Amino acid sequence: MLNWVANMAIVLGAAGLLYAQWKLAQLLRELPQSRVRTGWKTMLFLIPVFTLGYLGYIPLNWGLYQGLPDLLVPLIFLLGGCFVCTVVGLTYSSVEKIRHITRLEHESITDPLTGLFNRRHIDRRLDEEISRARRYGHPLSVVMMDIDEFKAINDRLGHLMGDYILTTIAERIQRVLRRSDLAARFGGEEFIVMAPHTPLEAAMSLGEKLREAVSGAPIPLRGHEAAPPCAPDTLTVTISVGIATLSATEGNGETADTLVARADDALYRAKQGGRNRCHASPPADGLSAAL
Ligand code: GH3
Ligand code: MG
Ligand code: MG
Repeated sequence: MLNWVANMAIVLGAAGLLYAQWKLAQLLRELPQSRVRTGWKTMLFLIPVFTLGYLGYIPLNWGLYQGLPDLLVPLIFLLGGCFVCTVVGLTYSSVEKIRHITRLEHESITDPLTGLFNRRHIDRRLDEEISRARRYGHPLSVVMMDIDEFKAINDRLGHLMGDYILTTIAERIQRVLRRSDLAARFGGEEFIVMAPHTPLEAAMSLGEKLREAVSGAPIPLRGHEAAPPCAPDTLTVTISVGIATLSATEGNGETADTLVARADDALYRAKQGGRNRCHASPPADGLSAAL
């Protein structure tokens, strides 16, 4: 009887180790190459070694169990197996949880269509950057963009093609930016770029670069699954651009809302001026600039 109990405890312990091994293999498949992964790989090698040790103990001690104290070692084997299996299981669940939270966090700040940041994120980041710009006395610019006559494009080619054009434009915008700039989809067919450490003049050239990046090359439509028969092979889309800058020396009363409102106002003037152009909001000294 004691022999049977002892060997069952060891076998159960070994089963726990094998379960841990299986969970660990799953965990490894999901971990990117890193030192952490190498560490877990070592564990993956050690677990079978321990399992063999467990199983090897059974024939070595077959029939040698005389009293309850002899069950101590098999019991420790069992608890060891349970412990490893619990640690690996909990680690796997934690990784899953962290991955889930990270995905939710990413989704909460990302525009699902274009993959740019969404309005909520840019609003929050603008507040932060304005405080920082004011504290350290560096300039900060905001570039607003709106696709010209987009409703007519949608009406002519359909909303799916409209979505494809929005995504293509978002990619072109993203390609122009520095790592420190932040682009977001502000509304339906409006985009915004926040450019820290960027004075008005540099922001105007950024605006012009963005405008050229969008309209400089036609967007290929042929072959797109949603293209209607009337669709041309390519389509040149233009944007109007409005720029506002929080200068390094002024703007103490400026908030994210007023800065964006100024960029929006400049954008409105670019539209009024004939579209496909950049317009900068007048700086505090009343000088306006239009490219
Ligand atoms: P303007 O040059 O004055 O900006 O003219 P517009 O036609 O671009 O401006 P308007 O505000 O009249 O139209 C914007 C259009 O953008 C209308 C709407 O159908 C389209 N739009 C907004 N969001 C989306 C979207 O997510 N996908 C698609 N396909 N179209 C969208
Ligand atoms: Mg618009
Ligand atoms: Mg528009």
